[in-house]
Amino acid sequence: MSVYDKYETVIGLEVHVQLGTKSKAFCGDDASFGAPPNTHISTISLGHPGTLPRLNKKQIEYAVKLGLALGSKISPTNNFDRKNYFYADLPKGYQITQDRMPICIGGGMDVETDAGKRHIRMHHIHMEEDAGKSIHDLAPDATFIDLNRAGVPLLEAVTEPDFRSAQEVDVFMNAMRQLVRYLGVSDGNMQEGSLRCDCNVSVRLKGAEKFGERCEIKNMNSMRFARKAIEFERKRQIDLLESGGKVAQQTLNFDPVSGTTSPLRDKEDAHDYRYFPEPDLPPVVISDEYLAKIKAGMPPLPWEMQEKFVNDYELSAYDAKLLTEEKGVALFFQELTKHTKNYKGAANLIINKVSPWLSEEKKQIADFPINHQQLGALIQLIDGGKVSNTIAYQRIFPELLTTKKMPLEIAEALNLVQSSDEGFLEKLVDDVIAQNPDKVKAYQNGKKGLIGFFMGAVMKASRGKAEPKSTNALLAKKLAKK
Ligand code: ADP
Ligand code: MG
Repeated sequence: MSVYDKYETVIGLEVHVQLGTKSKAFCGDDASFGAPPNTHISTISLGHPGTLPRLNKKQIEYAVKLGLALGSKISPTNNFDRKNYFYADLPKGYQITQDRMPICIGGGMDVETDAGKRHIRMHHIHMEEDAGKSIHDLAPDATFIDLNRAGVPLLEAVTEPDFRSAQEVDVFMNAMRQLVRYLGVSDGNMQEGSLRCDCNVSVRLKGAEKFGERCEIKNMNSMRFARKAIEFERKRQIDLLESGGKVAQQTLNFDPVSGTTSPLRDKEDAHDYRYFPEPDLPPVVISDEYLAKIKAGMPPLPWEMQEKFVNDYELSAYDAKLLTEEKGVALFFQELTKHTKNYKGAANLIINKVSPWLSEEKKQIADFPINHQQLGALIQLIDGGKVSNTIAYQRIFPELLTTKKMPLEIAEALNLVQSSDEGFLEKLVDDVIAQNPDKVKAYQNGKKGLIGFFMGAVMKASRGKAEPKSTNALLAKKLAKK
């Protein structure tokens, strides 16, 4: 047993979700990502004296939606607070956040991990605004500042320290990404920083009750790096404890190049943010009527869809999971079930053809060119024995991408319709039998497995047009005779 196995890792997350609102949290500036630097700004996001913040109703709505999805309690009265600090990318000199009373309290989410199903409890979710961006690596002797991001609305979702491995963190963050996309509150894009997390990591001897001292790794926006950072930190802390040292509470930075963490600051120089109530924003009261309205308009949630797919369409949990990864694809599948009763066939078609096409083309399901009628008809064509699965997938599907014609018309035009016509099949079967006297003898002497060889040969000769069931029956009959 390695010394590392004596310890248990404990992790808690502070997840930042950048909301997909049109405008910023407290002014009308465009909140979208990717514009030229310092073009989405105004006197308010620049922190000019005398300007006043205004609430963005969408931020409240999105916070409530995420809270309801996670089963949190929604606070009836919400106040904002100022978190004061000086930094060049924070022109106001403070960030508007919620310190005393967050909008969502408690709740949690089940996740499927390598260690089985785990329930991760949420501590709370609060609303805040983002700071601008300091860019240190464009020039050796200068820092550039882009204030487009200053004031963009965020939710910070804080979990309890319920994770026990980096893999659990990975799965949870993916589930969060999926959830915010289902809810339509954020694009969940980690590369663009729309979803990022601080990972609080500590270790303790297995069986110990008390948590160890924790370190906080800042701003992880790649799960590959987060896993590496947590792994590095786990080993570092265990090595430290094993050599008689103590873990000091620190804020850490992860360097993806070296794969190591290094301190940004320790507890002694922790900021005193001098939180105080934001005097320029009135309290936000969330009425029962408002809550009821949001509840009534909630979209289906990923885990609800998954369960529904298993129950209503008798799909395996595995298929249901694949089909519900993206809400658009899940809804697309649901629509397809109105055009075919072969749910498994529909699931296969989406999993094996539609989804791969979308990822190859980097397209959304809304841009998928084949309609439900065509796909339903394609499944029917297979089920009715008109074309084989292979022909449907490899020959007809690509044609459908560029035409509104129905699959049967395409199959006929390309001469792909399978034949169970006795005359057509008989000729093929007779030819194959005549061409392979040795194999026929072997078959008749008991090597029944050779039927596969004969089937393959007939199929090939027919260019996929021989209908398998009739072909098989005819072959068995003819081979037995001789
Ligand atoms: P703050 O960072 O403001 O001090 P908290 O003390 O509430 O806030 O902790 C923030 C995060 O740290 C939460 O996600 C929590 O789950 C996690 N956390 C707290 N204690 C530990 C610990 N001993 N080990 C790992 N994570 C922890
Ligand atoms: Mg913290």
